Amino acid sequence: MQLIWLRSDLRLHDNTALSAAAARGPSVAVYLLSPQQWLEHDDAPCKVDFWLRNLAQLSHALGQLNIPLLIRTAPRWDEAPAVLLDLCRQLQIDALHLNDEYGVHETRRDAAVASALKAEGIEVHRYLDQLLFQPGSVLTKTGSYFQVFSQFRKVCYERLHHSLPHLVHAPNAQTPLDITSDAVPSTITGFPTPSASLHNLWPAGETEARRRLDIFTDAQIDHYESERDFPAKPGTSQLSPYLAAGVISPRQCLHAALQSNRGEFESGSAGAVTWINELLWREFYKHILVGYPRVSRHRAFRPETEALAWRDAPDDLAAWQEARTGLPIIDAAMRQLLETGWMHNRLRMVVAMFLSKNLLIDWREGERFFMRHLIDGDLAANNGGWQWSSSTGTDSAPYFRIFNPLSQSEKFDPQGVFIKHWLPALADLNKKEVHNPANVGGLFGAVDYPTPIVDLGASRNRALTAFKNLPARTPVTEPFGERA
Ligand code: FAD
Repeated sequence: MQLIWLRSDLRLHDNTALSAAAARGPSVAVYLLSPQQWLEHDDAPCKVDFWLRNLAQLSHALGQLNIPLLIRTAPRWDEAPAVLLDLCRQLQIDALHLNDEYGVHETRRDAAVASALKAEGIEVHRYLDQLLFQPGSVLTKTGSYFQVFSQFRKVCYERLHHSLPHLVHAPNAQTPLDITSDAVPSTITGFPTPSASLHNLWPAGETEARRRLDIFTDAQIDHYESERDFPAKPGTSQLSPYLAAGVISPRQCLHAALQSNRGEFESGSAGAVTWINELLWREFYKHILVGYPRVSRHRAFRPETEALAWRDAPDDLAAWQEARTGLPIIDAAMRQLLETGWMHNRLRMVVAMFLSKNLLIDWREGERFFMRHLIDGDLAANNGGWQWSSSTGTDSAPYFRIFNPLSQSEKFDPQGVFIKHWLPALADLNKKEVHNPANVGGLFGAVDYPTPIVDLGASRNRALTAFKNLPARTPVTEPFGERA
């Protein structure tokens, strides 16, 4: 009997471990609920809810193939080896199949499970599935991890030219087993159920993920390059929650994009090339996570930036978190996050830079808050995005290039459509006033909206001084080993 352990690969199609298990013989699937671990990892309630909703759909799909899905609980991952070993003994499992995950805790958990099972003579097969490239396989000529995305991408292109990762077949139906699937819980204590409107924004299931991918690659991808930075437009795929939970695979995304671009990934449609580029950023940050495990522990990629004199400013932090900074583009973006579990990429950069530069608040505060609210929360991408914005990361924004939220707002939401959607109090302002109501609100007193919590010019200078005063840059030449 084969056991497939599902984690962030909640799909039937193009699932490497699932197909490999089913090809070897009768299979059973298992999913572990780990609420304590999830809380420790700041996994957002809406993300946990999304996992459960997708799992319920997957259980149904697996059931049609006579593959039972069992649910077990290992509150923390250090309990996973015992829970899985127990199940393996009970079902007389010959081999466990799993798709790799890459955080420090995930890696440690999987190693412990593998050694516990192997000690009992149970085979353990691990697969590359969450990514196009195995972390640690795209390296410089001297064998170290790339720190610059464009160089990393060049090697990815060479590899893709040489061979494209193939899609794998979905499993066939098997002879029914005498094992009944467990009911998938609809809630987990500690993770409140999100609103119905959030559910409607992010329907569960592979069919929905595939529908989004098809619509995007059929109708939108060619406009991606020109429209992706405008949050009022549906310019991006909105596939990130599905990719993060593995409801769709990066291979499926890559193949769909290539199909829309006559097989080209480096040339042809600028939109398709740019979108594939984003898929490669996803790969890059996973490489960084594995190559430099310190980032998995919320440490700065650039060690010298650990010395930054971050402000301890709980009121400013709360204003940022609660969408009442008095800067409409920031507050509208934070409302989008709080209400939908998702934020447009341009705005993630703008609010992250505002927190870490204008407010000079430690980027880790923002990283944690994002993680606690994002439906697509992913350690590698979130950490990469935060360290990029706060200039503490690899290939990140230079510290002196600080986005001005007002000019970003004027440039990327010129009519104020996005702002007015999330901040209806500003609906009557014209397209000039809407970006900075402080200029009009004081005069007419008509707008029910706070004044900015910070002076943009002065706070910019404060950030520049703080970064200038850092000790000389420490070269990050070799990956840091895992530290206890
Ligand atoms: P599209 O533009 O359609 O891109 C397609 C896919 O490529 C995305 O779904 C995503 O999987 C991947 N992708 C796109 N941009 C990036 C990027 N910069 N880094 C890594 N992968 C990328 N993305 C997450 O998936 N999870 C996160 O927790 C996350 N946190 C972020 C935090 C900050 C501060 C910043 C600046 C960015 C973060 N991103 C994160 C990256 C990016 O904002 C989202 O992936 C994107 O907004 C998702 O929308 P989409 O699916 O429409 O993307």
